[in-house]
Amino acid sequence: MTTLSRPLRLLLLGAPGSGKGTQTSKLLDKFSHINPLSSGDLLRTQIAAQTPIGREASSYITNGTLVPDMTMINLLAGELDSRGWLSPNASWLLDGFPRTAAQAHGLDTQLAANACALNLVVELDVNEDVILERIENRWIHLPSGRIYNLQYNPPRQPFTDDLTGEPLSKRDDDNAEVFKKRLVAYNEQLLPLKEFYDKQGVLTKVSGDTSDIIFPKLAKLISSQYA
Ligand code: AMP
Repeated sequence: MTTLSRPLRLLLLGAPGSGKGTQTSKLLDKFSHINPLSSGDLLRTQIAAQTPIGREASSYITNGTLVPDMTMINLLAGELDSRGWLSPNASWLLDGFPRTAAQAHGLDTQLAANACALNLVVELDVNEDVILERIENRWIHLPSGRIYNLQYNPPRQPFTDDLTGEPLSKRDDDNAEVFKKRLVAYNEQLLPLKEFYDKQGVLTKVSGDTSDIIFPKLAKLISSQYA
């Protein structure tokens, strides 16, 4: 475990299936005191609990389109606040939010007011063909967000979570048709989002087609600036 010497407020950008979840798990194993928050996991939890936000979000997710910005900003700002993360001392990692320039503005306003703006934004740059193939093989443990890949990272027992023994599920939106829509939505939003963080001087990119290639680069980047 590496200890951070100063707070890290990290956003991972990357197409759906680029391995943000996998990189997150690896980062948590390597660096102590980083707390993860995935907007997709948060929405899926809301859907499973049938909350009003979950009911609103479910049709967007099923169709592979984005949940409205205001809903997302309110949901995530509330979650950051209730976890006590709107503080200059907390270290955390966001995956999947912000996804649009409007969300980035909304989040930035909240963070700046609490002197805890994002200080590192990393784009995971993975070849699209690799991503499509990976998605078909992806299974998740819904309560924890743990991700398995039937080829590269299979569970010890078929379709069963290693830690809890609970069943794994296939995400409804992990099919070729919906997935292509998600990829289009991602690419449309990416440029303005990158511009926003580039202007703040916090944007960087890590390229590679497997998590084993990407992770050492990402870990080195974080170690060199924050450990
Ligand atoms: P993910 O698990 O990050 O791939 O997200 C799955 C789905 O949740 C997306 O296709 C969107 O429908 C929705 N979603 C997750 N995060 C966001 C966000 N920041 N803004 C809008 N929709 C989101």
